[in-house]
Amino acid sequence: MTDTADRTTTSGDPVAEVKDWLAGSWDPDLTVAEWWERLGTSGWAVPTWPSAWFGKDLSRAEGVRVQQAIADFGALPAPGGLGLMLAGPTIAVHGTDEQKQRYLRDIVTGQRAWCQLFSEPGAGSDLAGLNARAVKDGDEWIVNGQKVWTSGGHVADLGMLIARTDPDQPKHSGISYFAIDMRQPGIEVVPLREMTGRALFNEVFLTDARVGDDALIGGLNNGWRVANTTLMFERSSLGAGGGSAAASLASPGQVAGDLDKRAGDFVATGGRRGGGGGTLFGASAKGLIGLAKGNGKAADPSIRQKLMQLHTIGEVARFNNLRLKAAMQAGKDIPGLPNISKLLMSSTVRLSRDVGLEISGAYGTLHAYDADERKALDKATGQPFLSGITEMALFAQGPPIYGGTDQVQRNIIGERVLGLPKEPGFDKATPFKDLPKNG
Ligand SMILES: Cc1cc2nc3c(=O)[nH]c(=O)nc-3n(C[C@H](O)[C@H](O)[C@H](O)COP(=O)(O)OP(=O)(O)OC[C@H]3O[C@@H](n4cnc5c(N)ncnc54)[C@H](O)[C@@H]3O)c2cc1C
Repeated sequence: MTDTADRTTTSGDPVAEVKDWLAGSWDPDLTVAEWWERLGTSGWAVPTWPSAWFGKDLSRAEGVRVQQAIADFGALPAPGGLGLMLAGPTIAVHGTDEQKQRYLRDIVTGQRAWCQLFSEPGAGSDLAGLNARAVKDGDEWIVNGQKVWTSGGHVADLGMLIARTDPDQPKHSGISYFAIDMRQPGIEVVPLREMTGRALFNEVFLTDARVGDDALIGGLNNGWRVANTTLMFERSSLGAGGGSAAASLASPGQVAGDLDKRAGDFVATGGRRGGGGGTLFGASAKGLIGLAKGNGKAADPSIRQKLMQLHTIGEVARFNNLRLKAAMQAGKDIPGLPNISKLLMSSTVRLSRDVGLEISGAYGTLHAYDADERKALDKATGQPFLSGITEMALFAQGPPIYGGTDQVQRNIIGERVLGLPKEPGFDKATPFKDLPKNG
């Protein structure tokens, strides 16, 4: 059954309407869970979703303005993370009404957090070569295999799992997409520590893990199509700066422990987690210009040149995103543009890393690995953003890899936009079980 609340906007001015609604609804003394329940069921958490499914039927541009209005008002924004960014939109496209009812409500109200169980040790760029296996057992599936680089797996309640359900079919055809419960004995989540000092992602071992047949999204052996919908949402939101969704002010889900805390406390901290040196990841030219001025480096010709390059790439990326949004609003598609947006994001991150470190000089060789160290480092060097810069520099290798590496984006542009010949391969028609495999 669909959710029947009427969430359509009435005034034609959604920004005025959301401000009005916030004036009567935002209360910093609510718990995070209580506030997200209010925000999510009102339709303002994801106003671009259909009004029948917890949205307000707004365009993407209107949605951005509403998000800005919520932030400007000083209220806690919608729950971030992969539920809202990837799982929700994918289920909205491929899920049954019963599945939409079951999963979407908990996503918009922040009750459940999601992770993406796609990559495996032997299947990253070649994702369709995945080996995790799901075998039917009555009304359930039994899953065995290993996933890797699972961002947020340690705090996830549910996982978007792709697993092989028919090895007799060619590799793209015998895959299915499930919403699997992460908190069960058959799933072991092992953190992977990065060189930043954080452990944002994990290895996930599935040993006779169970998932119901009613959690199969998009039909049996149709998982490659469903996964591509998720990847499409990932690329377009990463290119548009949506990577920050994973670093929202309060974390959704039952494991992270934020739901019972006071909502107003997350707004008061300005979203800085862990204290000391907020991350400058994805820093704008503007932020780094301020930093150059503060460090007496604004007249350095090499730094000026890089800041100008950064500004230029930032403007190109901005115009690309505006083009993409305008095309989407008109119901059109510009092939390759999400891939180009992602490549521009990679360039921005690399250049931000280089110029940030150049401005910091020798201090850039220092790095702090936890919140207390970060505070101490910033204080000792007198550089309030130093730990943010070194964190950005160390993390800068990630964005050109996740959501499809730079090389893979270029392959897609080459093959699907420029019409260049496809890479030679015989794996499209051969049953997966007959393909040669490593190890
Ligand atoms: C920060 C971060 C977060 C991530 N989060 C998640 C997550 O939550 N869930 C998840 O499932 N995965 C996640 N990933 C994994 C990510 O999707 C994979 O790392 C990515 O798809 C690349 O796969 P791989 O690491 O196996 O590299 P490989 O596929 O082994 O690639 C190695 C190198 O070969 C190049 N290469 C491979 N194939 C080709 C080709 N055909 N043509 C040209 N060059 C090629 C690649 O560009 C790369 O440089 C994350 C990764 C990072 C860095």
